Amino acid sequence: MAFTLPKLPYDFAALEPVIDAKTMEIHHDKHHAAYVEKLNAALSGTEWENKKIEDILMNLSAVPEEKRMAVRNHGGGHWNHSFFWELLKKDAGEPSGKLAEAIKADLGGMDKLKETFNAAAVNRFGSGWAWLVVDGGKLKVGSTPNQDNPLMNGVSEFLGTPILGIDVWEHAYYIQYQNRRAEYVEAFWQVVNWAKVSEHYEKAIA
Ligand code: MN
Repeated sequence: MAFTLPKLPYDFAALEPVIDAKTMEIHHDKHHAAYVEKLNAALSGTEWENKKIEDILMNLSAVPEEKRMAVRNHGGGHWNHSFFWELLKKDAGEPSGKLAEAIKADLGGMDKLKETFNAAAVNRFGSGWAWLVVDGGKLKVGSTPNQDNPLMNGVSEFLGTPILGIDVWEHAYYIQYQNRRAEYVEAFWQVVNWAKVSEHYEKAIA
């Protein structure tokens, strides 16, 4: 079975005014669609097309060398965007329960998390992602270039189980924020779906 573009779990305009409808439409229908298409071009007709994308990314060194870079870039793009869409929701409150406790214990609280995460996102030179991950049972913040992600053992410069991420490619914010990445990153916190982040957290520590 070929990889498929997941449906956005909300309307293009659902995140306005934080993320505009046009950005969401192009980002999902064009950018994400292209990652899926190119991933399929690399893997369809091979045994790999039946595997879960997470499993492929966690074990990239097993992918035939001539396909590895395409899978890293486009498979990474497919996983990262599928993960990202689910993390976004308007007015989704604040972290609670175990996650809130861990943010306090591991990172020094919400303000400190925002400060560290925003710095990782703003200082990532060029295209990439910033992440909140669980590593060894603890929360950590970091970033990766291009479509790399913290699942890519042996490849990524930052590893862990992602529970939150932000796309800082210009295509994620340029229509609305132009060159002002810091403004986009700051506004992003208004559309974080904390119930979803908690779900990822509970699974990661289980
Ligand atoms: Mn993107």
